[in-house]
Amino acid sequence: MLIVQKYGGTSLGDIDRIRSAARRAARLARQGNRVVVVVSAQGDTTDMMIQKAAQVNKRGAAREMDAYLAAGEQMSAGLVSMAIGALGYPAMSLTGWQAGIATDGIHGNAKILHVDGSRIRKELDAGKIVVVAGFQGVDPEGDITTLGRGGSDTTAVALAAYLKADKCQIFTDVDGVYDRDPRLFPDATRFGQIGYDEMMALIENGAQVLHDRSVELAKAYGIRVEVLSAFTGEPGTIVGDLE
Ligand code: ADP
Ligand code: ASP
Ligand code: MG
Repeated sequence: MLIVQKYGGTSLGDIDRIRSAARRAARLARQGNRVVVVVSAQGDTTDMMIQKAAQVNKRGAAREMDAYLAAGEQMSAGLVSMAIGALGYPAMSLTGWQAGIATDGIHGNAKILHVDGSRIRKELDAGKIVVVAGFQGVDPEGDITTLGRGGSDTTAVALAAYLKADKCQIFTDVDGVYDRDPRLFPDATRFGQIGYDEMMALIENGAQVLHDRSVELAKAYGIRVEVLSAFTGEPGTIVGDLE
């Protein structure tokens, strides 16, 4: 099977969590799967970077913000790749542009137009786990773009679509999609499965558990996305229409 797994910021928040993601990816690869891991920046790195940028320039050019913010995900990709390597499994990190993610030129909210999966396929064929920096791509000028806050989810779904993955798993800090934010409403109920349109409606009402474009893409390509806990790995919520 070809499996795309995405890890959010909290799920990579410290070294133990980095190692835990690395172990899960290596285990799947040892079982004979081809594994692509998409990573977000660790913890609140992106928020910190935005604050820091404002200290040097309150209205920094969007192009420069993208050049800066994309580095958060690149640091995670290098770290996760090295953590997998430490387990004795070959791994390689790729930036969004190395991974062939082509976007439009709307800095800060770029849209993925195309993915050239040839480099990822080549590294998978060579037996590696490929770790892709989420949230970023390259525009027609050759400039670094970012996909908007929460955009690593969209990286994962786009890769799953273009690589024709068998599975797309979004590992996060809650164990699935609920009818309301489970952190604010302890009595919220979890969905076993939720349709694309229902998921979009939740997002429009403020549920930031998935990036809106990731659900649009999943719907367009018929990708079933599983949202699950990085801490337990127990089955979570399937986002997709019933067959
Ligand atoms: P990640 O860093 O893994 O991308 P996010 O913070 O983007 O994580 O999304 C996960 C968070 O989304 C959860 O911690 C939860 O508080 C919040 N959330 C908001 N609404 C919902 C909902 N309806 N179902 C699940 N989580 C939700
Ligand atoms: N690091 C980016 C953000 O905080 C992208 C992501 O987490 O998906 O918005
Ligand atoms: Mg998110």
